[in-house]
Amino acid sequence: MAHTITLIPGDGIGPEVAHATQRVLEASGVRIDWEVQEAGAAIAEKRGTTLPDEVLASIRKNKVALKGPIGTPIGKGFKSVNVTLRQSLDLYANVRPIRSLPGIEPRFEGTDIVIVRENTEDLYAGLELMIMPGVAQSIKLITEKACTRICEYAFEYAVRMQRKRVSVVHKANIMKLSDGLLLECFRKVALRYPRIEPYEIIVDACAMNMVRNANKLDVIVTENLYGDILSDLGAGLVGGLGIVPGANIGLECAVFEAVHGSAPDIAGQGIANPTALIQSGVMMLHHLGEHTAANRIEKALLATFEGGMRTVDLGGAVGTEEFTRAVCEALGRA
Ligand code: ATP
Repeated sequence: MAHTITLIPGDGIGPEVAHATQRVLEASGVRIDWEVQEAGAAIAEKRGTTLPDEVLASIRKNKVALKGPIGTPIGKGFKSVNVTLRQSLDLYANVRPIRSLPGIEPRFEGTDIVIVRENTEDLYAGLELMIMPGVAQSIKLITEKACTRICEYAFEYAVRMQRKRVSVVHKANIMKLSDGLLLECFRKVALRYPRIEPYEIIVDACAMNMVRNANKLDVIVTENLYGDILSDLGAGLVGGLGIVPGANIGLECAVFEAVHGSAPDIAGQGIANPTALIQSGVMMLHHLGEHTAANRIEKALLATFEGGMRTVDLGGAVGTEEFTRAVCEALGRA
């Protein structure tokens, strides 16, 4: 049976890494009918919006999407497409596995943690106002409902993936009410999972511990902003943004995307590393129940790295096309 999946190529390097990922997924033998939808800067000029209604309708219909990065202009302008998608589809859990690849960043060889980031509220709720000229306010919105369900998701994930510990990352010593609420929900949820060890850590200490001994943290559950920052730190630990995948999961739909942004500085040069989106595609195949194909792609990717292939961001000289071809060839042997 073929899966119908929404594909949003995105901006910047998005179309390049999306095309590479399509080729690898198709080479795995899984049958996918892609429903291509444009969102982001390119469509904004034609349509006056970065997120046309049909994009959301397509994801609601197909339930699953693979998305390339979409840039968000800093300051005034369009609201972030990424944030709007997550809020409109209630994709409340952002799951980002951070794992070392063979031969990349040997200082952090063996790193294997997962960040589960709350995706719908916190300072990303978009509640900002100018109280008076020269004074701006952003509201950090934290609710019991969102904290409870993200903690439940993290513990369920830990059970399903046979992990040992869930670490809640907070700053409740300063933000006693908002982060205090997260901590309170975490403690309540943890009681229902006696086999998983709960661990509490303040966000600044967490940043230091991630660099010294990340694996101790195992599965991290945290608010939107801390999760965003710690994900990039995690990417740095294992070799950079080019290799870290992500999934945005809701009760109805799921959108799979790399942690990195649109990297306009290297767009169109044929040197983008497609690994992060390919790995997001692997997560998507697991979500669809296509475990055999997912495992084969993962094996092919590892074999490609073990064979010494390195894209430019990882210190090599291989371009997107050559890397993708190598993964497809390794897939033929996997
Ligand atoms: P955005 O505004 O969309 O977040 P950005 O350029 O500010 O884009 P990122 O795209 O996340 O932020 O990445 C920062 C830098 O990391 C890029 O400038 C690029 O050099 C590098 N980078 C990110 N992703 C990749 C990739 N897949 N392959 C190679 N280099 C990458």
